[in-house]
Amino acid sequence: MSFMLVAGKIFRCAECQKTVQVDYEGGPLETQIGDMAVSRQLEYSEHFGQPSADPYEEGFYLYDLGACQECYEKLVSADDKERYAQIFDLISKVETERGQADEAISLMADDAIGSVTLSLTLQDISKAIGASVYGTLGDKHRAATKMRRMITGFVQDHSNQIEAYILEKTFAEDPIKQILDQYRDETLQPISLLLSLLNITQGKSFQKKHTNAVENLNDYIIASTMVRYPVDDAIDEVFYYPVEYDVPNLKQYLELKACNSGISVRSQFGKKQIGEIMEKLVMSA
Ligand SMILES: [Zn+2]
Repeated sequence: MSFMLVAGKIFRCAECQKTVQVDYEGGPLETQIGDMAVSRQLEYSEHFGQPSADPYEEGFYLYDLGACQECYEKLVSADDKERYAQIFDLISKVETERGQADEAISLMADDAIGSVTLSLTLQDISKAIGASVYGTLGDKHRAATKMRRMITGFVQDHSNQIEAYILEKTFAEDPIKQILDQYRDETLQPISLLLSLLNITQGKSFQKKHTNAVENLNDYIIASTMVRYPVDDAIDEVFYYPVEYDVPNLKQYLELKACNSGISVRSQFGKKQIGEIMEKLVMSA
């Protein structure tokens, strides 16, 4: 079960063991934190203890292990501190740009994909699958019912390639191309600076959290049952958390491309539509 009766949070410095306890508004409430998180938190509880004698009744305090401000100052050189702060700023700058571009693209995705699919030809499909359509489908003069069956099989085998092709083509045409060009102009410098900083730190960085900040307690999903608000008079201190970036992956993610755009073509454009397009193209050929 991924729910836990959560009353608050205990930030704990892994270096000096200093703790900051924060109560959540509403007191102990069933909060969805994810299966993995529940088992991890129960282990922490076992290890570090809980403020109340009966957390199953009075609510658990989730442990959050980082480095307190003082230890962070001691642990990290001035140069690295500067780099980590820059890395953090650059990532949020590029992510903001990416978010805006993604949103703008998704608003016009339906129309753009629609016009690309309308203009598809059998040559396009051949390009998409890297082979001749008729070479794959066989004799184009066979009976219609048999041909439909062949097309169904063809779509089963090739819909992913065709989807990817349509998406690439959509990204290469205005107005989406304009948005992408602008995104690339805006992010070219920040991304290259970010990558050179990450090179120096070997992908390592730190993120900081304020102890009184609102938090989504489930890393993977966002919903009201996972977001908890610290009480108004919660202590505000900063804790630091090491993060390690997989630099090639991050680079690929930040270079907004059709294949990683976050537009779920599958939701609006699937095998059914590809089947219809194929029938239209083949039967009218
Ligand atoms: Zn400390």
